[in-house]
Amino acid sequence: MKISDIKTTCLNLPHREPEFVSTGYRLGTTEILIEVETDEGVTGLGECICRPNAQVIEAAILSAKPFLLGRDPRNIERILNDLRSLGNWSFFERVGNVMMGGIETALWDILGKVSGQPLYFLLGGCLRERIPIFYYLLRFPLDEMVRRARQAVAQGFQTIFFKVGGDMNGDIAAIEAVRDAVGTKANIRVDANEAWTPGTAIRFIKQVEKFDLEWVEEPVIINDLNALAHVRRSVNTPIAANQSSWTLYDAKRILQANAADVLVIDQWQMGGLLSYKKTAALAEAYGVGVNHHSWGETCVGHFAGFHVAASSPNFLYANQSYLTMREDDIIQGGLPKVEQGCVEIPHVPGIGVELDREAVEKAAERYRRDGPYAAREGREDLPVTLIPQM
Ligand SMILES: [Mg+2]
Repeated sequence: MKISDIKTTCLNLPHREPEFVSTGYRLGTTEILIEVETDEGVTGLGECICRPNAQVIEAAILSAKPFLLGRDPRNIERILNDLRSLGNWSFFERVGNVMMGGIETALWDILGKVSGQPLYFLLGGCLRERIPIFYYLLRFPLDEMVRRARQAVAQGFQTIFFKVGGDMNGDIAAIEAVRDAVGTKANIRVDANEAWTPGTAIRFIKQVEKFDLEWVEEPVIINDLNALAHVRRSVNTPIAANQSSWTLYDAKRILQANAADVLVIDQWQMGGLLSYKKTAALAEAYGVGVNHHSWGETCVGHFAGFHVAASSPNFLYANQSYLTMREDDIIQGGLPKVEQGCVEIPHVPGIGVELDREAVEKAAERYRRDGPYAAREGREDLPVTLIPQM
């Protein structure tokens, strides 16, 4: 079996409502659908997130063609090693990992389809058929946050997630209001997206410890592991490392520094499902949990990542997902059902999804018409800087 072609399609997927974070907002996500074709007529599906942007990632995917055409798609480790070494991506890991994360998923999808097995069997077998996901609570006035948090708990979500890192008093008030609303029926998890200096992070977290947060994600800038470890040692609330554990080697450094209680990662940060699984195993050896991170991908990438979550022991927490933020998707059957805060892993060969060609065309038309969504739009009330707040 040989790879005969690789096709890319840029897609725009709007959010139902704008998503505000500590440094700006997003109206939706641009994703690249990858189709890896073979001479035996089997096509594998993959997806790339578009960070830093769609133009760079599409160029990176197409530049990988010489390493793929004519190769047996089932030799996944060999192809990835060639991309890293001969393709030079080991020196440009973050972009390279995003690209490889998309292409490699398509190779796994081919392997699953030709072997007639869902990916979770190929990755070690199923530990959980129903994957818990968080409820992503957008930052609205407190009464609306409270209404939505209560509704999410009534629907069976066990974890409420929201962004902090803006106005500190507003953040504390939001945590207090949501805790009052959900009582002990749900975990509350917040993500500061590197907003704070270590001192501010410690001061903030100590003020909200009485509200029993599940964890605080990425409190300080990602390139200072000492700062993250210092925050972790200084508070009683668990600390999560998301963008600071972008690669397998980042994850190793975080684990060695005892800088996090949980890694929030995905196949794009890690450069493929196999590397994602290896990182989960590394974390397991340190007694650290893993949480699936989402960038707002379609159900192609979403379910691909969930096969790792289904087959690895230390995915112990409600995983990230944008399903509740979306109007529709590009797979047949549309958005999957979320029941009691969980999504069922597909039990059919490969990733277990088929494309809805009309929906793909609709999302591709949006991209052609509007151009890519910005990874982050600025906000006039926020400083344009990566320097954290005191
Ligand atoms: Mg995060």
